[in-house]
Amino acid sequence: MSSTATKDHPQLAAIFNRDEPRVDWHDETLWWVRAKRDIAAHKLPEWELLRETASQIKNNVLSNLSSYLEQFEANAIKNGVTVHWAADAREHNQIIHKLLSDKGINRMVKSKSMLTEECHLNEYLLQQGIDVIDSDLGERIVQLAGEPPSHIVLPCIHKKKEEIGDIFHEHLGSAKGESDPKILTETARQHLREVFLTRRAALTGVNFAIAETGEIVICTNEGNADMGAHLAEIHIASMGMEKIIPQRKHLGVFLRLLTRSATGQPITTYSSHFAKPQDGKEIHIVIVDNGRSIQLGREDFRNSLKCIRCGACMNTCPVYRKSGGHSYHTAVAGPIGSILAPNLDMEKYADLPFASTLCGSCSNVCPVKIDIHDQLYKWRQVIVKAGYTPKAKTLAMKGMAFTLASPALYRAAGKMGRWTFKYAPFAVNNGANPWYKHREMPKAPEQSFGEWYAKRKDQHK
Ligand code: SF4
Repeated sequence: MSSTATKDHPQLAAIFNRDEPRVDWHDETLWWVRAKRDIAAHKLPEWELLRETASQIKNNVLSNLSSYLEQFEANAIKNGVTVHWAADAREHNQIIHKLLSDKGINRMVKSKSMLTEECHLNEYLLQQGIDVIDSDLGERIVQLAGEPPSHIVLPCIHKKKEEIGDIFHEHLGSAKGESDPKILTETARQHLREVFLTRRAALTGVNFAIAETGEIVICTNEGNADMGAHLAEIHIASMGMEKIIPQRKHLGVFLRLLTRSATGQPITTYSSHFAKPQDGKEIHIVIVDNGRSIQLGREDFRNSLKCIRCGACMNTCPVYRKSGGHSYHTAVAGPIGSILAPNLDMEKYADLPFASTLCGSCSNVCPVKIDIHDQLYKWRQVIVKAGYTPKAKTLAMKGMAFTLASPALYRAAGKMGRWTFKYAPFAVNNGANPWYKHREMPKAPEQSFGEWYAKRKDQHK
């Protein structure tokens, strides 16, 4: 895996695109998941009503976030849960480290949590001498491979089963060349069972936090969050502050939308409620801001906080499917990640809002009706105004604006372009022009549309 630290989306996409068969099955597999989502959605006549309801509930949450968070905290404390507040990733990581070190724990099991990826928790804890084992199968695979997840729901969707077989052979001792998914899954089960039984601490994410009751709901298909949390002495739940829903009755709306949008299933295999610790055990919930308050204050982008992390916008996005999740060089990839990341660091992620065709398919599938492609377009304007676009692009756009503003110049440029296409195609179709890497050179037209139209008009006089 090459470094993603200094490369932008086009450069990283070009690396992914070197392996054309991989690009093809990545594209086809995600489209297949998208098709399953369509079938599941079309089976529910009330689908659009559900989306609208979810969107309105989240509107209410975002408009009253501070009071719902306080209500959630008060109820969670009443239930015997300890609540912590983290302003940013550093505080989040420090709180978790302290909870573990106070108990002399140096090994922890963790289920899927994109927030901990966002905060780079594993790397931080490793530096402090604490070993973290990811227990979601896909996450464990990428962890063993030394890579970040490439998709929020399907973390190792970029890997072939043969590659997973090699990783398991190297790290978990499965037979060389074994790539049968059933056998590999059984190998992972045996390995993780030992982890679950021996870890004193378990960390999970939070899908929904119910203000009315102070409970959290965690959705998994593998039951790994439940195994970890039930067996460990201390359960730590990392929660983005936007995960609040007001009442328990609202949960049904989101549970019906979440997995249908993600994988086409009617519901996740496990939707587990955690309200209070078992006798002699502890639950800690760390509520994290890490830029969310700033995003809430950005009128054009606040709706991105409605996201329930279903991944549907990634599965449908033609750019994501062809460029792979790692090309986004951020924890949450794809269209929604391209809206969230510039809020954290506009300069570093200035390339991401441009990694879109703006076709609008992401907005069409989003279960909470986020106007994703409109927000991507708006980020482009913000980024251009802030001066974070490449100089060459800015100059080219200025040149284009100047040309388009003058009919005479526009006609002259058109003539020159047609001449170049015809007599010196190498001037545009060369290695320095990435546009032609996967495209055929078009045949140069003999005349412009304006010339053709003028002639026709003369003929019909
Ligand atoms: S933006 Fe919408 S479609 Fe994309 S992951 Fe979030 S909820 Fe799902």
